[in-house]
Amino acid sequence: MTASRSARGRRAAAQAGPLSRVTVDVDAEDQLVYKISCSACTVRGGKAWSAYRPGADNGYLAAMDRWSFHLVEKHPGAEAPCLEFLAEAQQRLHERREGGTPDDA
Ligand SMILES: [Zn+2]
Repeated sequence: MTASRSARGRRAAAQAGPLSRVTVDVDAEDQLVYKISCSACTVRGGKAWSAYRPGADNGYLAAMDRWSFHLVEKHPGAEAPCLEFLAEAQQRLHERREGGTPDDA
């Protein structure tokens, strides 16, 4: 479990690119939680901007999508492998909005 968690974290970090800080946690229900923080941006209270999404595969995708949008919006010149999937991320965002899932602040 621990090994696969760190492997998942490394895979996510590689996709998210050099600006990101990726951690994979386990929540109270033993579910994986992906957290992608931005090393350049802070939000209210001085904390790093971050996307936090539960789920082994859903969490990975959802956090990575959120991160991709953050990169495009705040760091237009940044490069990251995940941006290759931006069109798919936008499609998923559209589908989630139809479903009414709340977004981050
Ligand atoms: Zn940022």
